[in-house]
Amino acid sequence: MQAYQNQSIKIHNSLSGKKEVFEALNEGHIGMYVCGPTVYSNVHLGNCRTFMSFDMIFRYFKHLGYKVRYVRNITDAGHMVDDAEDGEDKIAKKARLEQLEPMEVVQRYTLDFHNTLEKFNLLPPSIEPTATGHIIEQIELIKEIFEKGYAYEANGSVYFDVAKFNITHEYGQLSGRKLEDMIANTRDLTAQDDKKSPQDFALWKKAEPQHIMRWPSPWGDGFPGWHLECTVMSTKYLGETFDIHGGGMDLKFPHHECEIAQAEASYGQSPVRYWMHANMLTMNGKKMAKSTGNNILPGEIFTGDNELLSKPYAASVVRFFMMQAHYASILDLSDDALLASEKGFTKLMEAFDALGGVKTSGKSDFDVKTWEQQCYDAMNDDFNTPILIAHLFEAVRHINLIKEGKESITATDKEALQHTINNFVFDVLGLEQKVGNAADTEKLSGVVEMLIQFRKQARENKDFTTSDKIRDELAELGIQLKDNKEGTTFSVN
Ligand code: AMP
Ligand code: ZN
Repeated sequence: MQAYQNQSIKIHNSLSGKKEVFEALNEGHIGMYVCGPTVYSNVHLGNCRTFMSFDMIFRYFKHLGYKVRYVRNITDAGHMVDDAEDGEDKIAKKARLEQLEPMEVVQRYTLDFHNTLEKFNLLPPSIEPTATGHIIEQIELIKEIFEKGYAYEANGSVYFDVAKFNITHEYGQLSGRKLEDMIANTRDLTAQDDKKSPQDFALWKKAEPQHIMRWPSPWGDGFPGWHLECTVMSTKYLGETFDIHGGGMDLKFPHHECEIAQAEASYGQSPVRYWMHANMLTMNGKKMAKSTGNNILPGEIFTGDNELLSKPYAASVVRFFMMQAHYASILDLSDDALLASEKGFTKLMEAFDALGGVKTSGKSDFDVKTWEQQCYDAMNDDFNTPILIAHLFEAVRHINLIKEGKESITATDKEALQHTINNFVFDVLGLEQKVGNAADTEKLSGVVEMLIQFRKQARENKDFTTSDKIRDELAELGIQLKDNKEGTTFSVN
């Protein structure tokens, strides 16, 4: 018997706005799609939070014995700088600014994304499809939407006709918006706009002569609209109906709303049974975002090289910090909060280490069975990791009392406790017991700072051979020095 047969999970479905009892479409199997990153710059800690939340959900399902097909895409075309879809493709813009081939941009930041998630101990998804790898399927879907009468062509671009769709369907059902209100609150179309209405969104955009990311299509050379790839790739790998679609809260509108519209227009129904949205990581009370500069990179956390931080933090401490909040709550990053998480994490790990050595006796003062079910109940209640962590600290309290000889535990209960702790702390929360990590990073920082000082001295002595050698050899080791007005800082790739 699989563990999932004993556990009933409730999930907050963003579409109904309610917690619903989760029922897998195919018993024992789960299909889950999560919108992946747009790979035009380094992934920041906010992005990591969303992917960590879904990694925890993926891990819990797997722990319960479900066979999970987890699809998380890479957006490598079609995501425009401007939400109104007039501007440039984010990747094409970066390629132009850095004089790179767009696929070099994609490769660089996909690697950064994978390296970063590995540091935070995220499991790789089962399939990681790319938008550019599915251009043919996207063109096919546009043709289908055309045939059903919900698309129109204008000047080499193809748009989704939201007003027409809304006559027989409900545009705005996920975000709780009404089309009339959207119309009242949007700017008028400008003369250059090809759209019939500002609410319409691009399925295919004509590529201007200077646009390098382009593919042939029945409507001329162009590239797909951003929302299309997720409808195509989720249904291609998970079927026309699947269990869970997730992403960050900021993707609800317009991205996921448009996905629903595209799917209903072409397949006659939305494929998603449970929509899940992870909430934002904020810094100084504002959303962490690439575009505003209000963000912190994981590399800065590991080296402590950011004015917000008093010291470096280990990846597991950061992961523990994230897991202390429910995935659907806003979480604000601060040095104080990280310091507190580090203290809590160390306390947890020390108690678990101590558990192995505690003496057993003929009776238990700690009801391990009831406690274990409380841990499951927390996770079954919409993946409530903060409550789970509170239960783990209840176990820590008992372990410490047993250690001090004030309580006792039987050998069977001790083994059960060790087993359950392993399951929840390492398998489900995905924490790692690399307590030396932060200390090692601190040592590394010290050594690099020393080399920066040697390089400074060499430059003052006009010994540029030595100063360049220090910089180049550090770069070869993946440590980049950056000279600025205040001095020299470094980052680790
Ligand atoms: P992007 O690469 O901008 O498409 O974002 C990738 C994922 O990160 C999406 O699911 C976003 O919703 C999510 N995301 C972006 N900013 C944040 C943030 N500050 N906190 C949590 N998730 C975020
Ligand atoms: Zn998506």
